[in-house]
Amino acid sequence: MSANNRRVRRLIVDLLWEFGEMTKEEMAEKLTTKKNVRTVPSPHSLSALLSKNPQIIAVGSEKVENAVGIKASHLVYDIDRNLIHNREEIVYTRSPTVMTPKQKREAIMCGCGRIRVFPPGYTKCLHCVRNN
Ligand SMILES: [Zn+2]
Repeated sequence: MSANNRRVRRLIVDLLWEFGEMTKEEMAEKLTTKKNVRTVPSPHSLSALLSKNPQIIAVGSEKVENAVGIKASHLVYDIDRNLIHNREEIVYTRSPTVMTPKQKREAIMCGCGRIRVFPPGYTKCLHCVRNN
């Protein structure tokens, strides 16, 4: 995966933490305001990035009417707030594909099979700590 792609994946989670639940269209808008994002993913790949990230869940849907009056249902995404209780915990739930090089060095394989940076003082990953 490209560095830009990894950065976008991390940024998506940070933006959800900061601004709360949103659709992929709202996420695309937020990403365009970020100077360090070279290319904003297409709506199609953005929905894949949102739905395949274990840190993110769909929390509902929103009816949106387009320019010609056709109503479509758009999923609304949010951080999995049962899993992630504060900003620091975002790094403990990152999968290896989005880790920074430093996090990759610190990551350990948990008994559950996930490779994660463990929260300080714990011998298991945050998913296991939260039973999630
Ligand atoms: Zn675990």
